[in-house]
Amino acid sequence: MQNSNESGTGGGSGADTGRTSGTGAGGESGTDTGRPSRTDTARTPRQAPTPAAALHGVNLAALRSHNAALLLGIVRAAGDNGVSRRELAARTALTPQAISKITARLRTEGLLVEAGRRASTGGKPATVLRLVPGAAHAVGLHLDRDRATAVLVDLAGAPVASRTLPLDLGAGTAAVVESALGEVAPLLATGPNVLGVGVAMPGPLDHTTGVPHRVTGFPDWDGFPLRDTLAGRLGLPVVLDKDTNAAALGLCRGAGGESFAYLHVGTGLGAGLVLGGALYRGGRTGAGEFGHQTVQLDGVPCGCGAHGCLEALCLAALSRGDHAEAARVLGTGAANLVGLLDIDRVLLGGRAVAAAPDAFVRGVAAVLAERARRTGDPEPVPVALAAGGADQVAEGAAELILGQLFGGVPGLTPGGPKIG
Ligand SMILES: [Zn+2]
Repeated sequence: MQNSNESGTGGGSGADTGRTSGTGAGGESGTDTGRPSRTDTARTPRQAPTPAAALHGVNLAALRSHNAALLLGIVRAAGDNGVSRRELAARTALTPQAISKITARLRTEGLLVEAGRRASTGGKPATVLRLVPGAAHAVGLHLDRDRATAVLVDLAGAPVASRTLPLDLGAGTAAVVESALGEVAPLLATGPNVLGVGVAMPGPLDHTTGVPHRVTGFPDWDGFPLRDTLAGRLGLPVVLDKDTNAAALGLCRGAGGESFAYLHVGTGLGAGLVLGGALYRGGRTGAGEFGHQTVQLDGVPCGCGAHGCLEALCLAALSRGDHAEAARVLGTGAANLVGLLDIDRVLLGGRAVAAAPDAFVRGVAAVLAERARRTGDPEPVPVALAAGGADQVAEGAAELILGQLFGGVPGLTPGGPKIG
């Protein structure tokens, strides 16, 4: 159920059978992960544990329903505005009886609360339901090549606490595991009802098994069972994904059908791809190895063993302090993606981008504008800084856990400033 490309397997075989039509309630491909469902127990050992199958500290049995996840997703996306039961019914095609039954259960679980009334078109004022963000939490852990960042977020995805410490990803798996546990432990003590830990690190890796592959520059990680090691030590569900996917997941929370690329320039170069509103990981969860596309045959050697990789050229420019050239290289890769995937926009993030945001946005936009002139596109694909701050990857990693509790919400756009 971890693979973003799966859809429609979220069940709904539980008590919430009030669906009146096939629309809305089944198979929202826009959700990143499978919803918690009673079919989860049938998974194969190679698949990641679904947090809802082993939730700790809080009785979230109600979430095992696909429809409950769907309703929670809508309420979560509504934020402080809240949602009335009537609005939920209109947006999900669930019967009012089913809505009442599910929301009553979610209130009993402490996940929803009635929060005032507002005028309704005809009839009595509607009672508004809101999410209770503090009802549960998740931890996101970003293991970067030279630092570890851990955040505790509430159910709304808002950070409650965070920690950052230096880390040497090449110090050996055992040492890094100890550092990771040291980062997470204080946060577990901070927030009640921690549902699990989402871990993000440089790829490539196998998301379904939670095992890193040969991370560029850090071959020791190849084949190490990081997810299961951490889960065993923590006694909590753990989900592992690439740093770029975690960030993209945070950005596409509740996304509609939009397609975008999140391009990350930090200690490496990578991409998180959101296609049609869903994070695209590929058949072996290896998609998004953006930095190692060859853009210069027989070019400079890259840490991956190839030559003339986008990453090698971009990092070389950065090491010279030449942000304009780094942005031009990044823009070239972005233009390749635009041509391949016909995405709606490009979002930029990562430490190097944060250090020179204007140079990167301007430089990438210039390459995309040049491409649009060549192809005759009326408008170049817009470029923007990704929303979120320095903890963007860590916060997105927490969404690896939280995202499984919430169904997809049609009609929303991903985070990040809108262009035009
Ligand atoms: Zn390379």
